[in-house]
Amino acid sequence: SATERKSDIEQRHQETAADVVPPNLKLYIGGEWTTSSSGETFETRDPTTGDSLATVQAGNDKDIDRAVEAAWTAYDDTWSNYSAADRQRVLEEIADRVEQSKEEFALLETLDNGKPISESRVDMELVADHFRYFAGATRVNGGDTIPSGGESQHVQTISEPYGVVGQITPWNFPLLMAAWKLGPALAAGNCSVLKPAEQTPLTILKLMDEVDDVLPDGVVNVVTGFGPEAGEPLAKHPDIRKLAFTGSTEIGKQVMAQAAENVHDITLELGGKSPLIIYPDADLEKAVNTTITAIFYNTGECCSAGSRLFIHSNIKEEFLDALASTAEDLVIDDPLLEETTLGPKVTEEQAQNTLEYIQEARDAGADFITGGDVPDDDALEEGSFVSPTLIDNIDHNNRAVQEEIFGPVQEVFEWTDYEKMIKLANDVDYGLAAGILTNDLTKAYQTAKDIEAGTIWVNQYNSFPAGQPFGGYKESGIGREIGYEALADHYTQTKTINIGLQ
Ligand code: NAD
Repeated sequence: SATERKSDIEQRHQETAADVVPPNLKLYIGGEWTTSSSGETFETRDPTTGDSLATVQAGNDKDIDRAVEAAWTAYDDTWSNYSAADRQRVLEEIADRVEQSKEEFALLETLDNGKPISESRVDMELVADHFRYFAGATRVNGGDTIPSGGESQHVQTISEPYGVVGQITPWNFPLLMAAWKLGPALAAGNCSVLKPAEQTPLTILKLMDEVDDVLPDGVVNVVTGFGPEAGEPLAKHPDIRKLAFTGSTEIGKQVMAQAAENVHDITLELGGKSPLIIYPDADLEKAVNTTITAIFYNTGECCSAGSRLFIHSNIKEEFLDALASTAEDLVIDDPLLEETTLGPKVTEEQAQNTLEYIQEARDAGADFITGGDVPDDDALEEGSFVSPTLIDNIDHNNRAVQEEIFGPVQEVFEWTDYEKMIKLANDVDYGLAAGILTNDLTKAYQTAKDIEAGTIWVNQYNSFPAGQPFGGYKESGIGREIGYEALADHYTQTKTINIGLQ
């Protein structure tokens, strides 16, 4: 019965939490676990059961000051003396530690974020691979020298680390987003002060616990806390040299203004409302599965989610029938269960946010192909679940179409005229990603060029190999993360040394 299943879920979550919630949950500053200056704490909750998972520290501006100071001490005394080879060994060891405790990290991520365990495991593989990629990349940058200047002078251009960088991460891929930031920053020789999202602070704290003996004290400092109290003082701190932020476009704009106070270099990875374009020649079954991945992977909490579907009119009916029945077959259940494919949203507040957008579409007279509500399952009533939702016949100017919902909700648009479709596909403020499904390579390339977005997937979606630069056009961001470009362009500064020879 539902009551029995509900109590099974609660018991499974309590037992798993007892096994994997790490012992050290304070601020990690200068290699020490310390309480917040204010003495304040907050709870991080399990979105499946609604129960408190752990109590963490609410850091503030004084804690950020302490962390920035500790990072500079580490930079001056230790980290700047590490050779590229030394840094490579540290990053490789971090990758090893993640791999050794991969299952614990995955379980902890699922408890804190609600993503299905099968997807948390993918995250952890990517985290380890990411650190390994940047371990290798340290050596590429070592001693980067471009001589020039002719007979009378010798000019050298070198790349140097910034020193201390500030990094702010979101809750949708908690540890992976931290790895995207720490990998290139450390590889380039920087120290970091990182503020994780308040909804999901646990896996980065566990990582610090696991690598405490690997990283010299103060090279990475983690200050948990809320945006205005801990994020803002970091963004505007005069002693950081660069800020990297991943989160919503709304907060990204504020953070950019804060960083401007000190003319800090900035990387912004912001929201998206990405189009998924399906040609009539696409293989139907593959197209259905790719669409499911594009919008329902990670419960739709992907910045790159293919949340606007452009389906060619010749195959619309057949495709949507198959898509709806596949969406209805998704297994919405406890994310700790192997077979679950759709977990709860990260918090109740986020679930309500998604339901408000759904209501707005309903009020505008849109049709619901499937979903549009919360799952009808009493065993899940404490969790922040939202049913997979496909919306048809909605105006492209509707707020639910123009804004990022960040949930399992996709809007469908039918197309026949290519030019009109491209115009609509580009008609949002965002430009993070896009998907194109066709067996015609020429059309795929043409469409890839016509779409304003930083990443284009052809015949697949949501793939993030460590060597692929990722970032946004338009209001989806500034700069690129992952890939060698992140290290070379975003975590080093250029110095020219000009020596007179006559
Ligand atoms: P958010 O903007 O609410 O918060 C992100 C981080 O900023 C959190 O750590 C938060 O505490 C902090 N913050 C909040 N207010 C702040 C302030 N005034 N000053 C400084 N820091 C502040 O975003 P979120 O809801 O945690 O994450 C979801 C968003 O992240 C989505 O919009 C998603 O598209 C985006 N995202 C983008 C990418 C990408 O690579 N482009 C990747 C993942 C997520």
